[in-house]
Amino acid sequence: MSFFDEISKVDVDSFRALVDSRTDRDVDRALARCGQRMELPDFAALISEPARVHYLKEMATLSMQLTRRRFGRAVNMYLPLYLSNLCTNRCAYCGFSSANKFRRTVLTLDEVRDECEAIKAMGYENILLVSGESERRAGMPYFREVMPLVKRYAAYLQVEVQPLSAEDYAELKGLGLDAVCVYQETYHPGCYRENHLSGRKADMRWRMETPDRAGQAGLDKVGLAALLGLYDPRVDLMALAAHVLYMRDHYPKVRLAISFPRLRPAAGAYEPRYPVGDAKLVQVITAWRIFDNELDLTISTREGAEFRDLIIPLGVTGVSAGSSTEPGGYAHHGENLEQWAVNDSRGVDEVCAALRLNGLDPVFHDASTTYFRAV
Ligand code: SF4
Repeated sequence: MSFFDEISKVDVDSFRALVDSRTDRDVDRALARCGQRMELPDFAALISEPARVHYLKEMATLSMQLTRRRFGRAVNMYLPLYLSNLCTNRCAYCGFSSANKFRRTVLTLDEVRDECEAIKAMGYENILLVSGESERRAGMPYFREVMPLVKRYAAYLQVEVQPLSAEDYAELKGLGLDAVCVYQETYHPGCYRENHLSGRKADMRWRMETPDRAGQAGLDKVGLAALLGLYDPRVDLMALAAHVLYMRDHYPKVRLAISFPRLRPAAGAYEPRYPVGDAKLVQVITAWRIFDNELDLTISTREGAEFRDLIIPLGVTGVSAGSSTEPGGYAHHGENLEQWAVNDSRGVDEVCAALRLNGLDPVFHDASTTYFRAV
């Protein structure tokens, strides 16, 4: 039985009442369980209003301590490489949606090589391949060519492309793939339908079962997230926590990463219906760390410089910097539409200097693998 089958038995809106019913005593109880396996009522307490109002400082301190204990001072630096802005899906919130008219492109192998050289010059060895979803022009035949080429430049190779079958993931693993990121966006069926209007992504089961397939293929890591702003964060965060528990139970060898992307302005002028403020996001990040000490927590350049400098020391273990969200954006700037607006436009050196000022150590391969092998 997949996670989709399990969560489909639940009215996810009922998570809202669970979060709203939490009291200070529940928060105390959850914090006392830190380091043991936590369950959904604990996570509900950690993201509740009593936790935000009375425990935020305590949670931030605890989150920092847990992160240093588990990951040391290392922060993994990764960079997205956009392969394509071609997409056959219509997602209401995304600049790459097929409903938006602009020049589409899929990088040729020569262009991918140019991007890799530019990325190498920036010092990165942890590369995240990103594309819109187009089976015809950026499907498995394309990935079979791209993956070995990029692997020559990548000590750690991740993809955030269309969901694939377990067999395809296994084949890509043989070509050097280490990790898959697949954001569910929202776990609420009605909201999912409203925002995924056509294309393969409209199939909620297919998307939600992607982490299962990646786990079955034996990949090293799976990245999960809900797109904050699409639906009530109490509901989506709780469903995501249920997904984490499910993955821990069914694929104990797979490392898990959580991201917390907030909706940013994009072509199509989508306005988030459930905006998540800065204080709430701080709470959410610390809640994840306390809930599960082993999660990789990653943050992209969607967030602004000042806010990133504030939250990274609290528990974040994966950071991008100097990112471009347009295909060809490193070697040939400014020709294609970006997927979303980068909000931290500092160069990689500047971000690394800020990390070091905070006592952190930026590393350009996937440090957590090395770290855990060494201890
Ligand atoms: S979110 Fe992904 S699948 Fe949806 S339109 Fe954008 S690129 Fe395509």
